[in-house]
Amino acid sequence: MKAAVVPAVSSSWQIKDVPQPQPGPNQVLVKMHASGICYTDVHLTLGHFPGPFPRILGHEPVGEIAAVAPDVTTRQVGDRVGSAWIQSTCGRCEWCQRGRRMFCPYMKGTGIEAQGGHAEYMLMNADATYLIPDEVSYEQAATIFCAGYTVYSGLRWADPQPHERVAVLGIGGLGHLAVQYAKAAAAISARMKSSATARALPLQAVRTSSSAPPIRRSPWWTAFRDYGQTAG
Ligand SMILES: [Zn+2]
Ligand SMILES: [Zn+2]
Repeated sequence: MKAAVVPAVSSSWQIKDVPQPQPGPNQVLVKMHASGICYTDVHLTLGHFPGPFPRILGHEPVGEIAAVAPDVTTRQVGDRVGSAWIQSTCGRCEWCQRGRRMFCPYMKGTGIEAQGGHAEYMLMNADATYLIPDEVSYEQAATIFCAGYTVYSGLRWADPQPHERVAVLGIGGLGHLAVQYAKAAAAISARMKSSATARALPLQAVRTSSSAPPIRRSPWWTAFRDYGQTAG
């Protein structure tokens, strides 16, 4: 299959023929239909995040399942699916048990430890896939698996209540989705609780994580923290 390979840190992407992967336990093989690109692809190309090279990036991958491993029962050939940037975590460390899988030191990230979506085919862990409704196009769905997932996570952590209001800092690639999600959530809350407003401070949840106990964290966490400090 053809794939966009990043051979080494800071090198240009190269379209190469690489072996087509075969699904192992708990995996599905997905024929890619769309693979979003965001600025994290630049960070990953420049080696700002730990992980092996060569890399096949692409952490906003969507497509149609072409094959499933024999032990997979929840997905089938022909399903329209996508996957976010966590392929798997250990499920045993303190972060996993707190429900903060993104800090798991053993996390396998899409496009890092696991091959990403900038290729004709990609392996996804079956339990890391999400079914895409037929009325949502692949192109529309792809970026939801990074930008949309990120802002939804912020809203979910903030747990806005029906009487509260939402503040979204920066209306860019992520922020415009946060506004739409918050509006949709407020509409749902309004129906349920007779209130038309909700409040969320997505950055608050991120800040509180820096005061967590000093236990082993994902290399990603450290990279994000260090990048945030150098970027001011
Ligand atoms: Zn873990
Ligand atoms: Zn992204």
